[in-house]
Parts: sequence; structure tokens; C-alpha cells
Amino acid sequence: MKALVYTGTREMTYREAPAPTAGAGEVLIRVDAVGICGSDMHAYHGHDPRRVPPLILGHELAGEILEGPGRGRRVTVNPLITCGSCEYCVQGRNNLCSNRTMIGMTRPGGFADLVTTAAASVIDLPEGMSARAAALTEPAATALHAINTAMRSLMRPLPECRALVIGGGAIGLLTALLLRNYGCRHVRVAETNALRRESAERAGAGETFDSAAQPAQENSADLVIDAVGMKATRAMSLAAVKPGGVIVHVGLGDWASEIDMRKLTLAEITLAGVYTYSTADLRAAARALHEGAFGDLAWVEERPLSEGARAFADIDAGRARAAKILLRPA
Ligand SMILES: [Zn+2]
Ligand SMILES: [Zn+2]
Repeated sequence: MKALVYTGTREMTYREAPAPTAGAGEVLIRVDAVGICGSDMHAYHGHDPRRVPPLILGHELAGEILEGPGRGRRVTVNPLITCGSCEYCVQGRNNLCSNRTMIGMTRPGGFADLVTTAAASVIDLPEGMSARAAALTEPAATALHAINTAMRSLMRPLPECRALVIGGGAIGLLTALLLRNYGCRHVRVAETNALRRESAERAGAGETFDSAAQPAQENSADLVIDAVGMKATRAMSLAAVKPGGVIVHVGLGDWASEIDMRKLTLAEITLAGVYTYSTADLRAAARALHEGAFGDLAWVEERPLSEGARAFADIDAGRARAAKILLRPA
């Protein structure tokens, strides 16, 4: 089969690779579409010690089961392969599974014609769902999980909240779109890349602004979702959140910060970390995408897998307008 292999720092090579075979309890999937994630970019830059080259990256995939249980079904997958029996799996919080592994990290991922994974991590797609929407299930589930977490702590209904989303990449954009779909009328998106601001506005994500030129107003948002997760965006989150408000930290660009604990305490700010999604979130995200809760997805760009190296280089150079590029095997 053909695969786009991460062969070294800033190096993706489209080449022949041995076709995988499904072991016991696994399925073999023919990949239809697979998204390039920020974490794939992180690996590409040589910054992820868990992703060691040569490795087939890619975990946001949709395809069809060729072998194993459910043969012939169109599916997406939970990239996290979880044990099903630890305390967190039993609670339905399998994103916290203490024995989890992941495709495109501890085993080959989806930037290939074929991929194998655990049969238990397969998610059925709604009838007639497009490959484009299906391949967005994973980032959409991250957005859904972040908003669900926020709603548990917000003291007023979402439609009445002023929301600030930091970052106009796929997670930020999907979060803003879902907030709008939930009736949130005041959604602002902070994004420093002009191409992405334009793309987010066209997608209907709300009002965008360049936070490098014009910082977010202090005490202006009931809900802040930080989809970047850098020192500067955490400081912005804490400044922008209103007393009694909620900050959800989704992105994880870097992880050392001094936090204004005075404001956090005196203003009763809730600061919640979220990581990925549960299997239930993935199922809900697939349905929501299919029903149009995230809009028409016209902002998503599709390219052939064979031209994947160029896509990585374009994203790296900030030349990619689309917040998400999907690669399609031939
Ligand atoms: Zn991802
Ligand atoms: Zn587990």
C-alpha cells in the first residue's frame, strides 16, 4: 500500500509501505479521508517524543471496514485505544484510561491506504454521511467535550453567555460553530493569522479579531475557551473572563504558567482542563456533524494523500487558509 510516512523532522515521505493485517479483536480499514491535526504538526516539528520516526501519523480518519467485525460498514474511529476495564473506562470517561494507546502514535496511523485498529474503538457513521464530515468527527468531538465541560460550570444558559474562543484552528473554529448552533449569540474568536480570521468569518463562527493587535477586553466573557494553550493565551483567558465565569483549557501549546490566583479566587473563576473526548462524545459529534450543527464545512480543504508532504509544509509556513486539511488516498 501507499503511505505518507513521517521520516524525520520536517520530512514527510509518500512511499510504499507493508500493508497491515488485522490481528485478533482488530479491524482492517480502507481509509477514505484523514485530517491533519495540530498534534501531527507537533510531531512533524520533532517536538513529540512519543511519535518516533519512521511512523505513519494521522488519527482523524474515516473509511470502510474491509476485514473483521462489521465488514463493509463505513466508520470513523476513536484514535484512543482504551482498556475497557479500568476505573475511568467503567465510568465512561475512557479518555482518561490509564492503559490507553493511540493510532498514529504508539501504532501506525491513518495517512495510508489501509490502517488497523481495535474493533472496539470503531464508531458507526450515520447513513449517507460524507467522508468530509466523517473525518471531522474527532476534532468536532473535542469541541463538543469542551462545551459540555463548560456547561456543567456555567451559571447561566449558553445563549445568554458572551463567549471568547481563543484560536481559529480547527478546534477553535468547530467550538465557535457549535456554540453558535447552541444559540450563543455573542461569540468572538481571537486569531492572529489573517487568512484564518477570514476563513472563520466566512464559516459563520462569529466576530473575529487579531488579539496581537487588539487584546481582548478585560472582564468581558462569561466563557473563555482556550484552543491554543500558551502562556500568553492563558493570561488573556484570565484577563478576559468575567467574575463568576468559566475558562476551558483545550489547547496545550506549552504548559508552564503563572496563574493570577488572586482573580481566580476572588472572582470565583472556574478553570477546567479538558482532554479529547469519550466514545459517547464521538458518537454525538458524528450525529451533530451529519445533521449540520457545524455548518456546511465548506472551509475544509481536501487534497490527495500523495501530496501530503506539501500540505504539511503549507500549514507549517502559515500558507494554509483552511483550518483543516483532509488527505484522501487515491
Ligand atoms: Zn486530532
Ligand atoms: Zn481503561
